[in-house]
Amino acid sequence: MLLLPALIIVVIAVAVYAHRNKDRRRCRWRQSKVGSKGALIKYNCITCGAEAFRSTGPPDRCLAAIDAPRL
Ligand SMILES: [Zn+2]
Repeated sequence: MLLLPALIIVVIAVAVYAHRNKDRRRCRWRQSKVGSKGALIKYNCITCGAEAFRSTGPPDRCLAAIDAPRL
């Protein structure tokens, strides 16, 4: 009867993995060339729909909860 303990271990592993992914879920920023203004490049978050203007690269975290200043 090794099947039952193995099944339990698998279930726990999947639960831990899913929980970790949930915590580390990040926004995925996509560069938008249409909305860019000069050196400022517009980035759209395809996860939550947030917008950000950056000249150095995409934001490293989600800006949906932050009231970011609009340009
Ligand atoms: Zn986001």
